[in-house]
Amino acid sequence: MRLRNKPWAREELANQPSLVIPNPSEHKGKWKELFGMDQPIYVEVGTGKGRFLTEMGKKYPHINFLGIERYESVLLTAMQRVKEAGLRNVKFLSEDVNNVEEFFEHGEVDRLFINFTDPWPKKRHEKRRLTYEDFLRKYEKILKPNGEIHFKTDNQGLFEYSLHSFSKYGMILNQVSLDLHQSEFQEENIMTEYEEKFSKKGMRIYRCEAVFRRSSM
Ligand code: SAM
Repeated sequence: MRLRNKPWAREELANQPSLVIPNPSEHKGKWKELFGMDQPIYVEVGTGKGRFLTEMGKKYPHINFLGIERYESVLLTAMQRVKEAGLRNVKFLSEDVNNVEEFFEHGEVDRLFINFTDPWPKKRHEKRRLTYEDFLRKYEKILKPNGEIHFKTDNQGLFEYSLHSFSKYGMILNQVSLDLHQSEFQEENIMTEYEEKFSKKGMRIYRCEAVFRRSSM
């Protein structure tokens, strides 16, 4: 992703503490209280400019959504989208996914989305892929027992790698699609920014759901 530096982004994000939550570790175990709505929590890691979460937030008002994004300039667009839409059930963390265990209690999250994450194709960068086993271990802890990851990508290599990583971890794979937009799952599908961009170029979109077998520890 090409990122332009926007020095004012940090300040603008800080001016919206009800949408971009400062000190998120203070809300560990208490996210539902922060939302003021006792309903399931779905988290998107690497949320980008927020198209997916904004549309999900509109479509599913009975779910609380949290997006984690480490680049402030990108997050600014996401925050503005949600603000304009007037959504109370979508909020963001300006944070690195590596630290996700600091923000959520064991079993606090009901579902996790990973959409069009950076593929890091070089073998020596494997540990940076958000479907690498160290990340799966973290996700497993914050997800409720038998929690699900919903994963989409345009990158065949990352998809193959991730299927392998999920299965090596002992997860169950469901709803695997090698061409999401031509599949039965398309009707329910909400597109992300990257998804729209790549599918317009005629690229296939891969999708699967991976379920942890173990309980939240
Ligand atoms: N999910 C969006 C979409 O589908 O349009 C954005 C996709 S973009 C290729 C990947 C995003 O993940 C970038 O905005 C990047 O900053 C974010 N990201 C990657 N690794 C991250 C990490 N460790 N912590 C937080 N955000 C991360």
